[in-house]
Amino acid sequence: MAPKSLTFAFFRKITLSALLGEWGKVRSDFNRCSASKPLYAMQISQHTVVAIDYTLTDDQGTVLDTSEGREPLYFLQGVGQIISGLEEALEGKTAGQQFSVAIPPEKGYGLRNDSLIQQVPRDRFPADADIEKGMQFRASSPEGPMMVTVTDVSLDFVMVDGNHPLAGQTLNFAVDIVEVREATASELDHGHVHGPGDDHHH
Ligand SMILES: [Zn+2]
Repeated sequence: MAPKSLTFAFFRKITLSALLGEWGKVRSDFNRCSASKPLYAMQISQHTVVAIDYTLTDDQGTVLDTSEGREPLYFLQGVGQIISGLEEALEGKTAGQQFSVAIPPEKGYGLRNDSLIQQVPRDRFPADADIEKGMQFRASSPEGPMMVTVTDVSLDFVMVDGNHPLAGQTLNFAVDIVEVREATASELDHGHVHGPGDDHHH
């Protein structure tokens, strides 16, 4: 026996088109709902592809870098393509979220290492190089190639700093998460994002 509440007591004649219309309405409501606030939005986790708009400022509020006016930054989460502090802040978040985070040097570009500041004889540089303060060179070192920034130049010597220009700095990021999706098999294989934001072709 069916419970009383499920007994068909009233019948209303409806046409097929009305029925479809009702379904259509339900579906479009669902679409609107899922477009503005997905019920099961993909969370950022290891090996998801993430696109962000961001602005990076130092503690004085000076803009050091921004995606404004450019394509969003695409990267593969969890493989060190971006600094660890930003990966940590993004973990578990979803597309459409905006947030600000202050990342300490240890989780950014590291602490400054004074031993990377060195005086180098001028003749180690190309003879025709017009060396100026602020220029960056690729240098060979016992630990492999590294980037150095010229901090001072004299007739016979050049002072270079092998620290990353943002080492020792707290990095203040304002982030707008644009997209989160699963990585494709070939993206995982290559360890980088294909499609929008791709920097090479296959
Ligand atoms: Zn590739």
